[in-house]
Amino acid sequence: MTTITRCFLIGFLAVELAACGARNTGDAQLAPAAGENQIDLIVAGDYVVTMNAADEVRRGTAIAIDDGVIIAIGPAAEIETNYSARELLAGKDRVVLPGLINGHTHAAMTLLRGVADDLALMDWLNNYIFPAEVEFVDADFVRIGTELACWEMIRGGTTTFVDMYYFPDTIAEVVERCGLRAMVATTVIDQRSPDAENADDSIARGRGFIERWKGKNSRVMPIFGPHSDYTLNADQLRATRQAALELSVPISIHLSESPFELQYSKDTYGTTSIKMLESIGFFDGPTIAAHVVWPTEDEIPILVQRKVGVIHNPTSNTKIASGIAPITELLNAGVRVGLGTDGAASNNDLDMWEEMRLASFLQKVDQMNPQVLPAKTVLGMATTGGATAIGLGDSIGTLEVGKRADLIQVAFDDVHHIPMYNVISTLVYVTDEQDVASVVVDGKVLMREREFLTIDTARVAEEARALAARIQSALEERNR
Ligand SMILES: [Zn+2]
Repeated sequence: MTTITRCFLIGFLAVELAACGARNTGDAQLAPAAGENQIDLIVAGDYVVTMNAADEVRRGTAIAIDDGVIIAIGPAAEIETNYSARELLAGKDRVVLPGLINGHTHAAMTLLRGVADDLALMDWLNNYIFPAEVEFVDADFVRIGTELACWEMIRGGTTTFVDMYYFPDTIAEVVERCGLRAMVATTVIDQRSPDAENADDSIARGRGFIERWKGKNSRVMPIFGPHSDYTLNADQLRATRQAALELSVPISIHLSESPFELQYSKDTYGTTSIKMLESIGFFDGPTIAAHVVWPTEDEIPILVQRKVGVIHNPTSNTKIASGIAPITELLNAGVRVGLGTDGAASNNDLDMWEEMRLASFLQKVDQMNPQVLPAKTVLGMATTGGATAIGLGDSIGTLEVGKRADLIQVAFDDVHHIPMYNVISTLVYVTDEQDVASVVVDGKVLMREREFLTIDTARVAEEARALAARIQSALEERNR
C-alpha cells in the first residue's frame, strides 16, 4: 500500500487530508492550505453510484484521484475546493459508476464477428471457428483483433476484462498500451491451435508467458485458461491446475456450458463436469468458470464452497442455444456471479449493457416472475459482484476510498434518459454503450468525452478491415 493510500484510508475528511497531500506540494515541511493539494484527477457527477455495501447513490458528488487510487469522495464543491487536480471531468448531466467488468471474452475474436452465425456450439466450434483459427490466427491477427476489442470495450465503459485466447504475450502488450485492466488467460487445449501443438505444449508455453508477465504491470494479470473438460482430459486438467498452483495464478475455464458437454462428461467421466473437476482437485485454486448453464442441484454447493466465480454470458448462451443459466438459483445459494460477453463471434459484440438487460429479462421470463434479478442485482453482477467473482473484489468494483480508480461517466442527456426517475433502473434498462462519455482506469483517462486517448482508432479500423477482407476471400476460395 502506498503512503498516500494509507493516509486516506485512515479517514477521508478533507481537512485531515492536508498533511497527506503535502507529499505533492514539493514542500514536506508545511501542510498546504486547502485547495493546494495537487492531485491527478477529479471526476464529478450529478449522481455517483458507488455500488458500496450500503448501495449509496450520492448526488452532486466528486471523486478525488491520485496515483491511480480513489483518495476522497465528497460533495463536488468541497472536493473542488480542497484539491487542485491536473485534470477534471465535469459532472453536469453525468452519472459516475464503477467501470464494467467483462468476466469472460476472447477479445481478438472481434475479427471473426459474423463469420459464422446461427449454428449450435459444437457445429460452430468444430466446423467453423477452430479451422478458421488454425488457418488465420497469428500474432498479427491477435494484435489487431485485441486492439479492436479494447477500442470497443473502452467505448462501452468496460474497464476490466478476462480474456482467453492465443498469443497471450501479444494480448498483454495491447492491454498494456490501451490502458485497460485485464486477466489474460493463456489457452490450454489438446489439439493443434494457432500457438501450440497439444495440451503439454500449451501448458509449457503458458508457463513461459506467466513467468514473463507476472508482476510486470499491475493492470495485466497472466493466468491459465484450460479450454474445457471436452477439449482436455482429466490428466491434462490436473496438470494445468498444478502449474497454476506452482505459479500462484488463477484459472479461467468454460464449464457446464451446453447439453453436449453435459452428455460428453457423463459418457467420458461417468459424471457431470463440476463433480468431475471437484473429484480431481481442480478447484484447489482460484477458478473463474464461464457459463455454468447446466449445474446439477448437488453441484451448486461445490461452487459455493470452492468460491468458484461464475461468469454468466446470456447473449452467447441464447445465440448458440446453450440454454438459460440458473442465475437466480446460483445467487440465492451464495455463488459469486459476474457477467461476460464471451467472444464477438458468438455475441456479436462486447456490449455489457446489453448483457445486463438480457440477463435480467431471461431470468424473469424463465421463472415467469418479473421480480427476479432486479436492476440493482444485475448492475452488481457487472461491477462489484463481477470483481469478487474474478478475485479482484478488494481493489476494484466499487467507488470507495482506497480502491483503484476504475470508473466511467455516463452522459444522461440523450432523449432516452428523459425523464429519469431512478438512476439504477435507467442505467440497466435504458443506457447503451454510446452513452458512455468518459472512461478512467487506474486513475488514467482512456476516453474523454468520447475521444479515445490511447488507441489510434483510424489505424485499427483500417487494419481490421484489411485483415477481414483477406479472411473473407480465403473463405470464399475454400468454399468454391
Ligand atoms: Zn468462451
